[in-house]
Amino acid sequence: MSQNICPSCSQELEWQDGKYRCGQCSLTFIKTAFCPDCDAELEKLQACGAASYFCNTCNELKSKSRVRIQFDKA
Ligand SMILES: [Zn+2]
Ligand SMILES: [Zn+2]
Repeated sequence: MSQNICPSCSQELEWQDGKYRCGQCSLTFIKTAFCPDCDAELEKLQACGAASYFCNTCNELKSKSRVRIQFDKA
């Protein structure tokens, strides 16, 4: 559950107002997921409390453990 790490200081990010915040850097990040197979940006789906990711290019769901997560400065 601690895979939300600040890309600049490696501290764990805080979830705040729909974004991820690093108190250490005073920066806010947006989490983006990319397809491990075609590198397209994935669409996040919220189903039964568990998040899953859908690739519109592959036209299939991608396992959360395989997707590539990137944090961009908001
Ligand atoms: Zn930081
Ligand atoms: Zn894909």
